[in-house]
Amino acid sequence: MNYNIDKKGYYGNFGGAFIPEMLYPNVTELKKNYLKIISEKDFQKEFNDLLEKYVGRPTPLYFAKRLSKKYNAKIYLKREDLCHTGAHKINNTIGQILLAKKLGKNRIIAETGAGQHGVATATVCALMGIECIVYMGELDIKRQAPNVARMKMLGAKVIAAKSGSKTLKDATNEAIRDWINNPVDTHYIIGSVVGPHPYPDMVARFQSVISEEIKTQLKETEGRDYPDYLIACVGGGSNAAGLYYHYLNDFRVRIIAVEAAGKGIDSGESAATSALGKEGIIHGSKTLLMQTIDGQITEPYSISAGLDYPGVGPLHAHLYRSKRAEFISIPDQEAMDWGLTLSQMEGIIPAIETAHAFAILESKQFKPNDILIFNCSGRGDKDLETFINYFKL
Ligand SMILES: *Cc1c(COP(=O)(O)O)cnc(C)c1O
Repeated sequence: MNYNIDKKGYYGNFGGAFIPEMLYPNVTELKKNYLKIISEKDFQKEFNDLLEKYVGRPTPLYFAKRLSKKYNAKIYLKREDLCHTGAHKINNTIGQILLAKKLGKNRIIAETGAGQHGVATATVCALMGIECIVYMGELDIKRQAPNVARMKMLGAKVIAAKSGSKTLKDATNEAIRDWINNPVDTHYIIGSVVGPHPYPDMVARFQSVISEEIKTQLKETEGRDYPDYLIACVGGGSNAAGLYYHYLNDFRVRIIAVEAAGKGIDSGESAATSALGKEGIIHGSKTLLMQTIDGQITEPYSISAGLDYPGVGPLHAHLYRSKRAEFISIPDQEAMDWGLTLSQMEGIIPAIETAHAFAILESKQFKPNDILIFNCSGRGDKDLETFINYFKL
């Protein structure tokens, strides 16, 4: 079993490009060029320079002493929360804006739910002086006012999607419509390992810097370049894909993916895609997604906006089906408690998304010499109000 993408854009049975014919030219242009461009020397140099000097990479691999002692294992945190803009998402938007420039594009579109990807996109557009349009559901614009303000401050134009449930999937539809109408000058930046081929592979490659750095960092501290466990939260799956990337075919490493159980897997209000999902097509790729018997996509729920997605990327569907990764879903309450625990045991306030991953420490048993690496995908500043209201601090 191999976990790299195949020539047709599939991971096992999942992936591909299920798109309207009108989008063929756009997606084909990307598919034909992305591997060649991103492996060129000058692209690599510019990408790595920006990751170092603008994003702040390499991010530390931090040994969490107090957590390690309490849970009787060697626990490391990969500190993506220390990236510029506060999460891993910027690794991908830097890569895609450089690619867009090489393809001669001078206009960027994106869609966003919680606003985190919109902010990361607006940031790199400001950096490059490129026009930026972000589609966002009208309801999400109301719910995520601080991120809307950030995008505007950064010079992006935020356009409200007013159809359907006025949330992420409606924003996605608007972005796709825009791209169909502007095939020559516009690049569409997708924010996770989702969407039609080549997006899942392209985004995973840009995020793979996470596991690339771990190889060197772990070798220095532990004398070997692989851990026993890798653990990450999964919304669409980009921070997880970056953490797993260089270890996917190294079976000494066990992989754990953590999804949001929301108010409980059986509550009807969750985002536990692996537990509840069936094969289907979302956002142009074949994957696992939560749907009704007649194939309508179910509205997902999680207290964390970044995990509130009804599908997972095709790589993760394959990791789940082939049992390469263990999938665990964590309810809101446990994730929120872990937000406090990590803050007060390590002095690190995590994003609520990130806090989900740590909650597996309560139920899983490890050996004292096991090396665990948690991806600390983002910082919790954006979630302070939710934490404060929840705990009545
Ligand atoms: C967006 C986000 C996620 C979820 O997205 P993935 O593509 O699954 O990584 C997780 N953590 C943080 C901090 C985020 O901003």
